[in-house]
Formats: sequence, C-alpha cells, structure tokens
Amino acid sequence: MPAPAPPVEISVVIPVFREAENIAHVARRIRPVLERVASSYEVLFVDDGSTDGTMEAIRRESMGDGRIRAVSFSRNFGKEIAIAAGLDHAVGDAVIIMDADLQHPPELIETFVARWREGYVMVYGQRTNRPGESRMKRGLTHLFYKLFAQFGETKLPEGAGDFRLIDRRGVEVLRALGERSRFSKGLYAWIGFPSIGVAFDVEERRFGTTKWSFRRLFRFAFDGITSFSTVPLRIWTYLGSLVSLLSIVAAIYFALRTLIFGTDVPGYPSLIVSVMFFSGIQLMSLGIIGEYVGRIFAEVKRRPLYVVAETIGPEPVADMPVLRDQRRRATV
Ligand code: UDP
Ligand code: MG
Repeated sequence: MPAPAPPVEISVVIPVFREAENIAHVARRIRPVLERVASSYEVLFVDDGSTDGTMEAIRRESMGDGRIRAVSFSRNFGKEIAIAAGLDHAVGDAVIIMDADLQHPPELIETFVARWREGYVMVYGQRTNRPGESRMKRGLTHLFYKLFAQFGETKLPEGAGDFRLIDRRGVEVLRALGERSRFSKGLYAWIGFPSIGVAFDVEERRFGTTKWSFRRLFRFAFDGITSFSTVPLRIWTYLGSLVSLLSIVAAIYFALRTLIFGTDVPGYPSLIVSVMFFSGIQLMSLGIIGEYVGRIFAEVKRRPLYVVAETIGPEPVADMPVLRDQRRRATV
C-alpha cells in the first residue's frame, strides 16, 4: 500500500497554451510566495494541447520538485475547459487559478490567502487597468458587463477574471456542475458563498502574444449571455406580439382608407421593404433558437469535457475521495 500523500494546503492551477517561454519565469516568481504563505503547496499546469515545447519546459521545472505537476490535453480544448480540468486534478484545500503570462502578479497570492484564512470561500482579483487593449475592446467589454447585469441571472463583478482563490467547498460545487459550455465567470458568481475582490494592476504580457482573437472573444461573450439568460429567446415573443398588433392596426387603417378613398395601386416598395424586414427578423429569431438547441445538443451528448494525454509529476493517491470520483469523470 502506498504511503498516504501529504496534505496539500494550496494548489495553484495554471492553464497553459503555447507558453514555453513563460513556464520558468512563472515558476520562479511563484515559489517564494508559496513558500512564505503556505504550509504545503502544489503547482499544477494544465497544458491545453500546446505544440511548442511547453511540456518539456514543465518537465524541466518539475525535475526534483514533486510539487510541480502537469496534466496535458490531447488537443486544444480552450482555457475554460483547462480550468475545469485544473479544478478536477488539484488536491489543495484552496485552489488558486492564474495565467502563465505573469499578467496576474503572483505576489497577490499572499493577500488572497490572507482573505481565505479570514473565512472567504472566493477571493478574486479585480483589475483596475487594461494595458495594451484598444478602446474598442474596452468599450465592448463594458457593454458586455452591462448586458449581463441586465439579463443574466447573476451579477458579475466588473473586472473580475479567472485570477482567484477558491476554497475546497467552492471547488467541489463547481466540479459538480458539469456543464459543457463553461462560462466560468458566470459560474463563479452563480455558486454564491462569501466572496471578496482584491484590486490589482494587470502587468504587460511577458512573452508571446494573447491567444484570444476578436472572434473568440465575441463567441465567449455570446456564450456567457446565452448560458446564463433566456432573455434572447423571450425578446422574440414580445417583438412578435407587438408586430402582430401593429399589423392589425395597419389592416384596419388600410381597410377604412380603401372604403373611403378607393384602391390605390402604389405601395409596392413599402411592401417589399416590410417583407424583407420581417423575414430578417424571423431568420434571426430562428438563429437564436438554434443557438439554444445546439447547446442542448452539446449537453445531452454527455461527452467528457476533455481528454488527458499525459501527466507529469506524482499522481496523488487514489483513495482520496476527490480523486476517485475525478478518475471516473476525467479519464477516458
Ligand atoms: N490559454 C489556454 N488555452 C487557450 C488559450 C489560452 O489555456 O486556448 C491560457 C494561456 O496560456 C494563458 C491564459 O490562458 O495562461 C490566458 O491567455 P492569454 O494571456 O492569451 O489571454 P489574455 O490575457 O489576453 O486574456
Ligand atoms: Mg494574458
């Protein structure tokens, strides 16, 4: 029988996608902080299907230091899924999620842990600036928060991202959610529990470039709204009823006008315009319904969230209840 694994107090989960140059830097900056604040810790990299030597870099770091572990996907599944896998595999009493590019200052972990010790289940970093982002991107982000606050079922604290600490209780709830389309920002808020924000300045990206294209961000925002709100579906009911009411009024008006003044042939252009306008609206509403049907389809297929190809570092002992359950879920 293997010796029981030592308990881990703090797990740091870092999703990485083509971040080979950043691994050593992030590890070097994280270690002293963790040595200071945690009685024991692990750093768990989740390699999201990188092809650039990211895994080799992690292996170099973990050599002789069993506290550095990694889980590697068989292909790129996206950051949201990588975070889900991180929560599945981390064993700490508290799990900290952060980016590999050092845009999330590791020194903030000290404050996170202090707040956690005070009893907060969720401690999130709230960014006060957005360096290197265009005005347009900033404007759109703001618009997204506005829309979400208006229509979503939960309120998102503005500027709060994935950089956060989550207590084991919160982690277990998040793991139990098991949704396919993962909009973590929404899920973090949805689970509730005492939460507190800690302000921080985003640093410049250390190496490489951002992996988020505009298209991807838009998709992400759309996912966010549709997984937390049915308002996009309901709008069309209201709009539809309004339009039918208006058309009855118009019908009465035209009937009366014809009775009094007789028929007039002109009116062809307005006819075409209105036909086009309403076929457009119908197509859009069909599209929105399609989005939700697609989501239902993705959920009912019940595919695993991700496929693990490889791991680095000691596998935690199998008889921890967390792990037994996660093996069943995560391994294919
Ligand atoms: N990332 C990932 N999978 C992806 C894209 C990004 O795991 O498909 C990771 C990436 O390696 C980084 C973090 O998510 O650690 C944030 O990515 P990035 O810095 O590109 O995003 P930004 O800071 O611009 O929002
Ligand atoms: Mg970044």
